[in-house]
Amino acid sequence: MWYSQPMMKYPQHLLQLIENLKRLPGVGNKSAERFAFQILEWKHEHLLELANVLKNIPFKLKTCEECGCLVGEEKCQFCDSSRDHTAEICVIATAKDAFAIEATHEYKGLYHALGGVLSPLDGKGPEHLNFQKLKDRIINRNIQEVIIALDSTLEGDATALYIKKEIADLPINISRLAFGLPMGSSLDYVDGGTLSKALAGRGTF
Ligand SMILES: [Zn+2]
Repeated sequence: MWYSQPMMKYPQHLLQLIENLKRLPGVGNKSAERFAFQILEWKHEHLLELANVLKNIPFKLKTCEECGCLVGEEKCQFCDSSRDHTAEICVIATAKDAFAIEATHEYKGLYHALGGVLSPLDGKGPEHLNFQKLKDRIINRNIQEVIIALDSTLEGDATALYIKKEIADLPINISRLAFGLPMGSSLDYVDGGTLSKALAGRGTF
């Protein structure tokens, strides 16, 4: 005969750790549990180190007010005046994309991080993105070419079209990464060689 047994319950603090880990993209219950039990094995000093790194993120990492890229405690490397072709500006969705493009060594111009892409379903409209600042920078810095480096997705396409329309009256060339990027792909998942080709083979948009 079977007797019902009370369900085993994790201690409260462990549950809290699991819930926090589930905030990471692609991490569900099972993965979060696995990571949590792995973390329980860490030395105390490593736990403190991680806690300290996380705690200091808002103080040590900032968004550059000019280009929207990520900066540490030093000057923004993407706004450095020594950059070769400062008449070019590359429009990216998030700060992370600038590092991916830098790694190709194909591009030496400026960057402009929008802070995402247009996504009406998530309530992200033009007012949530850094468009006005982009326009100001193009005019004030006498930019000659705008390179749109957005994901090849529906939202990326819609955002690219929006930018094109917004700056259509300015005397500049507009191009967009095209060659080499698979349809529906995210810049995050493209290898350096493909991204490098996409930059070199960009077409007029
Ligand atoms: Zn900057």
